[in-house]
Amino acid sequence: MQSKEHLYKLLVIGDLGVGKTSIIKRYVHQNFSPHYRATIGVDFALKVLSWDAETVVRLQLWDIAGQERFGNMTRVYYREAMGAFIVFDVTRPATFEAVTKWKEDLDSKLVLPNGKPVPTVLLANKCDQGIDVLMNNGIKMDQFCKDNGFVGWFETSAKENININEASRCLVKHIIASE
Ligand code: GDP
Ligand code: MG
Repeated sequence: MQSKEHLYKLLVIGDLGVGKTSIIKRYVHQNFSPHYRATIGVDFALKVLSWDAETVVRLQLWDIAGQERFGNMTRVYYREAMGAFIVFDVTRPATFEAVTKWKEDLDSKLVLPNGKPVPTVLLANKCDQGIDVLMNNGIKMDQFCKDNGFVGWFETSAKENININEASRCLVKHIIASE
């Protein structure tokens, strides 16, 4: 019987149009839509994971509209989160450049009860598009993650359902380890 339960609030942040809403939809509802609909305010979705034989993990995924970037809204939105995904679009270099700004915004407004930054995983989304700004710019992602405090990174596709489950398990593993 699964007797242990965890509830974690996870943030999904990054520039407008990178695929935040699509990733959550794919992960939670197993579907994808090519039609763009901007998220207004904040959306929530719940994903229940059978973590191991004893443990159930409930993930409360918070999806924010990209415009709210460095406003005061993010502070309220970040409150009590236990982990985060920062998403960029591999076809748009500017969204990768924004990644460090998102990380700084997050770390400046939120720390864990133990004073440490929240575990954050970087998602290089739309990898199905075959255009890779990272490769083209010779950016070494493992080093980038080390330098910028990410616990890991994944190439993802909400469209083709690539690596989203893996990225989530990586984040949850780090959250559990940090508790
Ligand atoms: P958000 O603003 O970050 O929430 O971005 P959305 O989830 O609304 O996605 C923006 C656009 O990118 C939409 O037209 C999606 O269909 C498209 N999109 C999202 N993820 C992917 C992906 O993995 N691959 C491709 N090809 N398109 C994607
Ligand atoms: Mg959205």
